Amino acid sequence: MEVRNCRYCKRLFNYLQGPMICPACQDEMEKKFTNVKNYVWDHRDATIEEIAEQNEVPVKQIQQWIREERLTFAENSPMGIPCENCGKLIKSGRYCEECKNSMMKSLDSVKKKEVKPVVKKKEKEKDRMRFLDK
Ligand SMILES: [Zn+2]
Ligand SMILES: [Zn+2]
Repeated sequence: MEVRNCRYCKRLFNYLQGPMICPACQDEMEKKFTNVKNYVWDHRDATIEEIAEQNEVPVKQIQQWIREERLTFAENSPMGIPCENCGKLIKSGRYCEECKNSMMKSLDSVKKKEVKPVVKKKEKEKDRMRFLDK
């Protein structure tokens, strides 16, 4: 267990996993998330800026919920966040369909490259053996 400063209130708390937010702020955020979700339902054409202002939640937090796919919008809604790769407006997640597809392809090639670190690990073991020999 580590002790960290909460991203929001800066208080120290026992950090376990996930975002660096203390339990109190996490509760607060969950409440705000519910408010935001309800607000989005009632105001289908509200922009992210409006939602942020009306619910006193940072725009970044709302974008994060969208990226986490917790907040989603109707297909015909003007709402969207930019794809992290090409900037095209998307409704949820981090990337547009096209970027997702091309990333899947590049992920495949990354997997093939991952063979190299295994060799390095073996070299380290050899070094250790040499050390033990001395
Ligand atoms: Zn906090
Ligand atoms: Zn894209």
